Amino acid sequence: MPELRKDPIVGRWVIISTDRAKRPSDFTREPVKAKGGFCPFCSGNEAKTPPEVLAYRPNGASPNTQGWTVRVVPNKFPALGIEGNLSRQAEGMFDKMNGIGAHEVIIETPEHGVMLEDLPEKRIEDVLWAFRDRIVDLKKDRRFKYILIFKNHGQLAGATLEHSHGQLIALPILPKHVVEELEGSRQYFMYKERCVFCDIIRQETEAGVRVVSESDAFLTVAPYAPRFPFETWILPKRHESAFENSSSQVYEGLAKTIKNLLQRADQVLDNPAYNLVIHTAPVQENAMEYYHWHIEFMPRLTKIAGFEWGTGFYQNPTPPEEAAKYLREARVEHAQPVTVP
Ligand SMILES: [Zn+2]
Ligand SMILES: [Zn+2]
Ligand SMILES: [Zn+2]
Repeated sequence: MPELRKDPIVGRWVIISTDRAKRPSDFTREPVKAKGGFCPFCSGNEAKTPPEVLAYRPNGASPNTQGWTVRVVPNKFPALGIEGNLSRQAEGMFDKMNGIGAHEVIIETPEHGVMLEDLPEKRIEDVLWAFRDRIVDLKKDRRFKYILIFKNHGQLAGATLEHSHGQLIALPILPKHVVEELEGSRQYFMYKERCVFCDIIRQETEAGVRVVSESDAFLTVAPYAPRFPFETWILPKRHESAFENSSSQVYEGLAKTIKNLLQRADQVLDNPAYNLVIHTAPVQENAMEYYHWHIEFMPRLTKIAGFEWGTGFYQNPTPPEEAAKYLREARVEHAQPVTVP
């Protein structure tokens, strides 16, 4: 019998097919294709991107030249523009506002073809610091209410450039999915006087069946009601609502955890296309006791079809207990450390 399961945070129901559960080998994979041609993110092509807003250069070289390890540039084709005033207007019964926002690209490595999980932990940590530094800078701009950091890997996940990168979008409004999480976790807190994410960490650690891995600072779990096969969340064990307010130990631990999860997914799912998002508190808010930042990792193994569009219901052919078991049992070998040119 298929099972309907409810997510405790946003109240979203999903259908888990338990009868003909799909195993990793049942998904047809379109390999993450290497495309030839010019790449503006490669070391040496600094002049081909808009001027950088941040870069880490261990050798102290000048901006927009080679020698960086992580480099952040405005997106050449931004979804939103940085200039101008926010103005809300009505158009009859409709609402509109100027498309103000920031859209930046975090180039995670100067080397083409190296994936995030191939980098040494220390360099993944640098990428996390770049995320943090950009949030801290952009939140000074009071026009921005939310800053989303995400990563698309592979064409199936929407990546248009192969060179490993993350993206940041600063928004003048709170996005719907975030509002739903904030509302859901606030209601849970009002009812139980506990953070729903802290409760999930407690219960999942005890149950163990959906745990992928665990360290001092992080729990990696398949959520109880996942929308997608092999959907996995990374939860910081220590309660904190804002990603950018974490301690340096947290970024150190997170770098290890991300590398570990991506290596497990590569092994079980053969280098899948994926989306990864950091859900954190709205930037103009003080610390929240009911919200808890986290990472959602979603391999793109199935297509969203009419039923999903029509209902908001997701049908997931792999029970999270099985997905977690595959990922948990993956033998993670450390990739060759990469040297910076
Ligand atoms: Zn490149
Ligand atoms: Zn919490
Ligand atoms: Zn979330």
